[in-house]
Parts: sequence; structure tokens; C-alpha cells
Amino acid sequence: MAATALQVETLGPATPRGAIPLPRPGSGAAARRLGVLPMPSLEWNETVARATAPLYERVKAVVPPVEWPFFAPYVMAINHLKKERNAVILAHNYQTPEIYNCVADFVGDSLQLAREATKTEADIIVQGGVHFMAETSKLLNPDKVVLIPDLRAGCSLASSITGADVRLLRERFPGVPVVTYVNTSAEVKAESDICCTSSNAVAVVESFGVDKVILIPDEFLARWVATQTSVKIIAWKGHCEVHERFTAEELRRYRDSDPGVQILAHPECPPDVIAEADFTGSTSAMIHFVKSKRPKKVVMVTECSMADNVQAETPGVEFVRPCNLCPHMKRITLPKILESLVYLREEVEIDPLIAERARRAVERMVQLKN
Ligand code: SF4
Repeated sequence: MAATALQVETLGPATPRGAIPLPRPGSGAAARRLGVLPMPSLEWNETVARATAPLYERVKAVVPPVEWPFFAPYVMAINHLKKERNAVILAHNYQTPEIYNCVADFVGDSLQLAREATKTEADIIVQGGVHFMAETSKLLNPDKVVLIPDLRAGCSLASSITGADVRLLRERFPGVPVVTYVNTSAEVKAESDICCTSSNAVAVVESFGVDKVILIPDEFLARWVATQTSVKIIAWKGHCEVHERFTAEELRRYRDSDPGVQILAHPECPPDVIAEADFTGSTSAMIHFVKSKRPKKVVMVTECSMADNVQAETPGVEFVRPCNLCPHMKRITLPKILESLVYLREEVEIDPLIAERARRAVERMVQLKN
């Protein structure tokens, strides 16, 4: 039900954000148990060119021929090592095209990836994405080895809030349910009643049947949800550093230059940006929109690799690319994925007590019919 007036109360971070440390490095347990492998040859030659030619076909619209001799030896080595290690690679929609199209086994948004991983027989998961995604994969796949190729692949939303902040919110609003966006650490999920994604946030908020819910940490997602429901939302001042940079003025310029263009915005964008869009939805919802409606020209107001990845699958659609890169997503590269498979690092390990409570919050969301 649409609200007549927005009911949002926003609170700020309670602790200095610089105080949040990098995640702990893995203990090296998987490497000790399964062993380190020799680094494969990375030579560009005729054999590599022939073997990787079908993969280059998939990305040739977005990867110039001059770059392929650098990528191809890594692509070949990674695909070989995945078999040797019985590993799969999960790639988020914001990963670069050579990762997304040439080495990934599953692609999608963070929740789709973690759920897909529960269906594989693989022993090892390599996360092409950021740290909270690797943690979510580990929560849903506790018996598998989960690797993040670069520990510094963080997220401005995930680092905007701590478990202590959530405990303070609960003290301030006793009895009010806490809904946490999946873009958070396991520690924050553990303090929550349930998780949500940008595609199911409204349904999750309404699932409690109460008139007030805490929805953290993305203020803009919370504000967008508040336009779709009559439930009062208590929000947090966390922002995605990629989506908060888009402006309504920028979108109006795209519309002025071509009134027929379809503008799709992610709900992590500021409210005035969302107001200019024709459609608002998660990365998966945007991809579904483009694949099913095949607009002539589209602007995807989200991280810029996504347009490259969707373009590879939807020839004939023209993409206008407002390019805001996520610096954290871009820490994951083919060389780092290869090292991850060779040395089995960095292994994601979560304190079992935190993991049990965080898993409950994620599983509650997964079980919710919406
Ligand atoms: S795009 Fe935004 S929400 Fe996604 S990982 Fe980067 S900073 Fe976090």
C-alpha cells in the first residue's frame, strides 16, 4: 500500500567509522589441509588463443582485442584450476566482463549467488564480489571453503554500522523488529531479526504485521521502501558510495537528449534520482527488465560494469553508461582469483556463535514467501 506521507526517522552512526578494522585474514586451515598448487604458466600462445576463442566471442563487444592476450592465459588457468580444486566462482553483477562471462559459474546479486552455491557439489567457493557477500556465502554453506581474493574488498554500506550500533538501536526502540539489508557484516546480521535484499525489502518489512520497523543501514533504500508501505521506518545514515553519486540533473540530461530512453535506477540511489527513473529495482530486476522488454535505449543507474555484462547478453539494446565504479568490487581481478585458487586464500571464517545467529536472520528471509 502506498503511504500518503513518508514516515521515516533517520539516525546517524554511533561510532567513528574509521574505527572499523579490516576483516581478519584467514587462518590458512584450508591451505594446510588441501595443499598449495604450483602457479600455472601464463604465457599467451596459439594453444591459449584457440582454447579461449569461444570465451572471447562472449566479451568481444566490451573487451578490446589488445587486452585479450593479457586476460586469456588467466582465464584458461583459472578454468583448469577450478576443476582440479572442485571449486566454483560466484560473480556479482558488478564484476568486470572477463570475470563475469569467462570464469564465473554463477552470476547474480549477492543473495542469488549464496543460494546457488548451496546447490553445488563443489568443495570450494571463490567469491567474485565483496567481503559481506563472501560471509553470506559462508553462512549458507558452512561446510564449504569460502575464499575472498582480496580482503580489502569492503563496502561503504557494510562499514557504516556495527553490531554495537544495532544493540543501541534496540535499546532506543524496544520491541521494534530489526530488518537488515544483506549488505552488512555477519556481526550486524547476528543482531537482526531478519535480512532483506533490495528486491524483497517491502515484503520483509510488512511480514511482521506491525506499524514500525527498523530498516538498516541504507538510508535511501529505507526511504524508497517507505514510499511503498504504510509501515513507519526507522532508518540509518548508511549510503552506498557508488549510488549516492548519481544526480537527478544527470538523469534529466539523458532524458532531454532522447525522450524515449528508459531509465532504470537502483533503490540505493538518492530519492530525487529515483523520482526521475522509469523503473526502480535490484540489479536482478533491472537485468530482467532489459531482457524481457528489450528497450531500444536504456540507462542503468548503477555500477558501470553491469551495463557491460548485460550488453554482452542483449545485442540490439543501446546502453548509455553513466559510469560510477565500485572501487571495492574492482579489487577482485583475474590475477587475484588465480592466486586465491593456488594458495587457497583468504579463507572466510566466522565465529560460530555469530554465524549461528546471523544464519538464522538470512534463513528467515530465504524462507519468507514473497
Ligand atoms: S556498489 Fe555500493 S553497496 Fe555495492 S559493494 Fe560497492 S559500495 Fe557496497
